[in-house]
Amino acid sequence: MTHSAHTPASAALPDSSLEELDDRSRRALTERIAVTALGRGTYEVVGQSEDAYLVDLPAGRCTCPDYRFRDERCKHVRRVAIEITAGRVPAPDQIAVGCERCGETLFADRTAPEPYLCPSHDLSVGDAVYDRETGQRLLVVGLSDRRADEVSISTIRGTVADHYSNREYDADDPVVSVVYPDSFELTNHGPVPGSLTVYSFPRSRLSTEPLSD
Ligand SMILES: [Zn+2]
Ligand SMILES: [Zn+2]
Repeated sequence: MTHSAHTPASAALPDSSLEELDDRSRRALTERIAVTALGRGTYEVVGQSEDAYLVDLPAGRCTCPDYRFRDERCKHVRRVAIEITAGRVPAPDQIAVGCERCGETLFADRTAPEPYLCPSHDLSVGDAVYDRETGQRLLVVGLSDRRADEVSISTIRGTVADHYSNREYDADDPVVSVVYPDSFELTNHGPVPGSLTVYSFPRSRLSTEPLSD
């Protein structure tokens, strides 16, 4: 299943540090431009004037007059690169597909095996994951569609997203509940009740691969 992925022409772009950019980059950022991935590294770029140009990103080529006659890296090529960096269109080696469970569009490597699953649905209870902050191994015990900024942590006055160790991660990430299996303690009296505390993490803090450092 392939979805067309494009950014709405009205997509808001942050205007921070625009002053440091040259004219051409500034225009690439601020003009209302819609970018649609056509596959194989080709993108259609429609600007405010409604003119549509084709960008071949791997080759760095564009069909606009700026590129063809002045041989300059035009604003369309720049804008495609910006949209890819922002995660709004797939990179040349990616395809836009729908999550098998919720249908949300995601960008998967062209060679990635199915099923395609979005970050909310690519984990299962019982999976081992790794904390990107500490490298520790965790066990998934709960999955949720609730966002990190909606779920409170009882030990702080705030949400999962507010916790100092989660500031680098997106506040709208789904929350994943985990335990530290290595903290489990068994005594002659049985398991220590508090040794398997459940913690909540933003999804993007968890890696499915062990972290190499
Ligand atoms: Zn161009
Ligand atoms: Zn999904």
